[in-house]
Amino acid sequence: MYYGFDIGGTKIEFGAFNNQLERVAKERLATSTDDYDQLLESIIELVERHDKKFGEKGKIGIGLPGMENAKDGTLLTVNIPAANGKELRQDLQEKLQRDVNIENDANCFALSEAWDDEFQGQGSVLGLIMGTGFGGGIIIDGQVLSGRNHVAGEVGHMRVPIDAWFALGDNPPLLECGCGKQGCLDNYLSGRGFETLYAHDYDEQCSAEDIIKAYQSNEKNAVAFVDRYLEFTAICFGGLFTALDPGVVVLGGGLSNFELLYEELPKRIPRYLMSVATCPKIIQARHGDSGGVRGAAFLNLDTSK
Ligand SMILES: [Zn+2]
Repeated sequence: MYYGFDIGGTKIEFGAFNNQLERVAKERLATSTDDYDQLLESIIELVERHDKKFGEKGKIGIGLPGMENAKDGTLLTVNIPAANGKELRQDLQEKLQRDVNIENDANCFALSEAWDDEFQGQGSVLGLIMGTGFGGGIIIDGQVLSGRNHVAGEVGHMRVPIDAWFALGDNPPLLECGCGKQGCLDNYLSGRGFETLYAHDYDEQCSAEDIIKAYQSNEKNAVAFVDRYLEFTAICFGGLFTALDPGVVVLGGGLSNFELLYEELPKRIPRYLMSVATCPKIIQARHGDSGGVRGAAFLNLDTSK
């Protein structure tokens, strides 16, 4: 049995998956915001209750917004203050007497998609989330590429490429990032970025949905803006695809619902790839909100079998 926990700032979602990777249990509870012991207790209680129910010790995977410090195993997770700076993995392993895997939630999203029947055997899957922020995960042969410092796939904190910068128009804004740097892709290739750039260009605050609607009704500003934004996205993705050469690319998050991306990006990206390279298939994520918990559970899958 595989247990997955998707721990966010406000809720913990739990799922148990059998050997056929079908979800056989589902629970959701509020995340304890400041009480670490209570957070530990909630996880332990869920695990022990389901162990009893299924008559076996399930394997545990946890996805959360953040990462473990590779030096000392403490968590960096500003969205879950109760767990920030704590040795969550070690504490759970001691109490539950088994290995616990912890990964960034974007890596779990990508892993969930990579284990979709259709993509097994793809070699590598790049998951990109264009939601409130921009994040990603790289899956190679069914396993998360975590990296030496557990920051592999943190594409949102790469900087805007120079030609992408020019594609934004005459006077693009240099946006501050939550990580303390400037010009991170997180602030551009996200729903938030889409809205910020539009507001910068036209001095008008609109939701991403409204901008897309205006584009669909052929409004001049929206059409010009979407054209620049698609070119910007194509250049940024071109750089990522050149570095990673993924077998398939899966998009998630609110902006991934914009169908034009799947039509336009494959046409625009090849210009920004090496001449020997072709654009990988770009598709929308299939597992939606349950991707996080699914991917967390699948952290324990063994690809060698
Ligand atoms: Zn950043």
